Amino acid sequence: MRQYYLRKEFLLPFVNPGFVDNQRLFHKYKASLILRQLKNSPESKAVQILKYQNLLGEQILKATILQEVFLDEAAELLGLNFGDFLSEIKPYLTTEQLLKLKGQGFSIGAHSFYHPEFWKISEVEQINEVKKSMDWLVEKSILK
Ligand SMILES: [Zn+2]
Repeated sequence: MRQYYLRKEFLLPFVNPGFVDNQRLFHKYKASLILRQLKNSPESKAVQILKYQNLLGEQILKATILQEVFLDEAAELLGLNFGDFLSEIKPYLTTEQLLKLKGQGFSIGAHSFYHPEFWKISEVEQINEVKKSMDWLVEKSILK
């Protein structure tokens, strides 16, 4: 088996604290789970919601944070529970794992709180996203 070594000085992992500890699922991730689920339930009422939002088929992968509420509605109609997915699959790093990475010498940066499309939100919200993510890193002692 081949081994790969990561050179820490070339890596700067960025986190979106809103997803750390599997608290919430990124809206693009939700979209991709819905797309998969729709293939099994093409007759679902979720299709109507998505059609109205212009999110049918692969278009759903272009859903923005402003459409997250519709993704949540569609998911409910499809019987998709993101909370269950988060607790079963645990796709995200935990605070503990981030602290461990920091301990190994990695510098960890912020990448907004919930990773919204910045061009879709107000300037006040943009600043809040940046500030909240930075504050979180400081509060958890993850920032160097
Ligand atoms: Zn990004």
